[in-house]
Amino acid sequence: MKINEHFLQLKDSYLFATVGRKTAAYKAAHPDKDVIRLSIGDVTLPLAPVVIEAMHKAVDDMSHKETFKGYGPDQYCYGYEALIDSIKRSYARKGVALASSEVFISDGAKSDCGNILDIFSDDNVVLVPDPVYPVYLDTNVMAGRKIVFADATEENGFLPMPDDSVKADIIYICSPNNPTGAAYTREQLKAWVDHARARDAVILYDAAYEHFVTDDKFARSIYEVEGAKECAIELCSYSKTAGFTGVRCGYTIVPEALVRQGVSLNKLWARRQSTKFNGVSYITQMGAAAVFTDCGERQIADNINYYRRNAKIIADCLDSLGIWYTGGKNSPYIWLKCPNGMSSWEFFDYLLENAQVVGTPGSGFGKNGEGFFRLTAFGSEENTRKACARIKALLQK
Ligand code: PLP
Repeated sequence: MKINEHFLQLKDSYLFATVGRKTAAYKAAHPDKDVIRLSIGDVTLPLAPVVIEAMHKAVDDMSHKETFKGYGPDQYCYGYEALIDSIKRSYARKGVALASSEVFISDGAKSDCGNILDIFSDDNVVLVPDPVYPVYLDTNVMAGRKIVFADATEENGFLPMPDDSVKADIIYICSPNNPTGAAYTREQLKAWVDHARARDAVILYDAAYEHFVTDDKFARSIYEVEGAKECAIELCSYSKTAGFTGVRCGYTIVPEALVRQGVSLNKLWARRQSTKFNGVSYITQMGAAAVFTDCGERQIADNINYYRRNAKIIADCLDSLGIWYTGGKNSPYIWLKCPNGMSSWEFFDYLLENAQVVGTPGSGFGKNGEGFFRLTAFGSEENTRKACARIKALLQK
């Protein structure tokens, strides 16, 4: 027996563990202090009432012989038509027409980010941005793929553009981005699509935060860009859109037009899913199917607007201090430049000790994250206001 030795190449992820350990140590030493976490990457508002109602109804269906459901329908890899149709309607509103066979229901974007790699050879070269959502990096390290980095920096607004001198077969794009909150315009995405098509590369486009886009010049789906169906797979999630982080549901779009070496990637993915996956629970799928109804869209907008207001509170605070940042406008993440040339961890300690505010050091997301810091809008409005007042009082001294 031999283990997969590529796992030994993984770097230990100290980031969130260290944030948690340092915060706990500070709290233990200062039990009277009120520590506020602006590092939360999880949603905090409950599910929309329309989702709860649909899930209750689905539970009732499961309790009667006549309406009980076992495995999901095999036609679309265990996705129920009601859910697939609702996703198609949501794409139609962005001007994107999809066939039912192109929509694959998943238990979330993280699983499919890893699983989709099954259909690609291990000797492909992979391009990931730096800083990066660590899943893109680690899943490819596990497979032993060669990884090259696209530098996201202050100079390019944390939005790297294609470099024709770099050869990559699989290209990761996350927009609006975690951790930087930066979002690509349609024109910028068109440059990536043209680059990928010219090289027969495939873009893995993570749209987990697309519902936070407000400004029309930013795309909510890569398929809003001409030619994307010939070169891109889109991964999406109900987690941040509708508070499903604990429920687990997402969807992956693999267009029929996406063909490499004469083989349909849609067919390969369907084969992979029907072999290794048995679908998402009926109750979850029925809850998710309520999200993109008219009533569902209104209710999830209330929650997203709540987080957007928090993001604006943070952005206004940084504006008033003259601190450079990306995100916050079309994203729940705010990525700021640490003041006075502090390193990411120096600023973490400084904020915790002097303002009792916890954020996430940017250096934990890659070398280009050094000197930057991530705040999130997923906390309560009260805490966000309180934290910003403290940051302002501290930094304008
Ligand atoms: N993609 C990005 C960029 C994320 O930030 C996250 C979660 O934080 C995910 C995917 C995972 O989403 P899910 O909860 O659907 O697995």
